[in-house]
Amino acid sequence: MSPSGAPVRSTARGASKWTAAPDPARLTPYEALKKAILSGEFKPGQPLVENALAEWCQTSRTPVREALRRLEQDGLVDSSDRGLVVRKLTPEEILDVYDVRIVLEGTAARVAAERRTDHDLRLLRLLLQKLNDVSESDRDSMVEVNEQFHRAIWKASHNAALLDLLERLHLHLARYPGATLSLGAPGRWAATHREHKRLVDAIDKRDGDTAHRVALAHFSNARDIRLELFADGLPEG
Ligand SMILES: [Zn+2]
Repeated sequence: MSPSGAPVRSTARGASKWTAAPDPARLTPYEALKKAILSGEFKPGQPLVENALAEWCQTSRTPVREALRRLEQDGLVDSSDRGLVVRKLTPEEILDVYDVRIVLEGTAARVAAERRTDHDLRLLRLLLQKLNDVSESDRDSMVEVNEQFHRAIWKASHNAALLDLLERLHLHLARYPGATLSLGAPGRWAATHREHKRLVDAIDKRDGDTAHRVALAHFSNARDIRLELFADGLPEG
């Protein structure tokens, strides 16, 4: 137990850095734990001990147990012989997630081109500009704006089932962050930006076929960069 009450018995990778407990007035135990998993504060494979987490969330065990059950349903928590742990995806599983994502992103882009409103388009243009302006050295902002941009396309599809599935896949990939953005081949970010612009132009023109094709290529490229990163043995993130 750390001074802050964070559960420290954990992986070798320095989880003793869990410092700030979540603000209990703002986040439910579910939200707090999910955030800790997605941000990487809780590492893949790390044990999740009810008592310690209850203390960390400043609550009793029951809401923590419920939160863990929900997180298990989300696919973020797994049971193991050590009890509940933060779910760990193998490189192969991450690539499986990508394969499904490519298909869904292609569909979302096509449907967005068909259904987008003027407001959706304005938002996409705005985010495209933000992506253009963000500094390549500011990796956190790159990842954040990139996420906002792609989520805006999902929303422009106005298809709740698609949005739901894409959010779910995103939960998995978010923990293995956007190495593909900046660690790819030199010039990758500029190429990425051109792809984003082509995508928005196709959605602007309500050209579903082009939007679909551009999105498939865009996410296939991202997947291929992941493959290269695995091959090179680079650490995730
Ligand atoms: Zn992108």
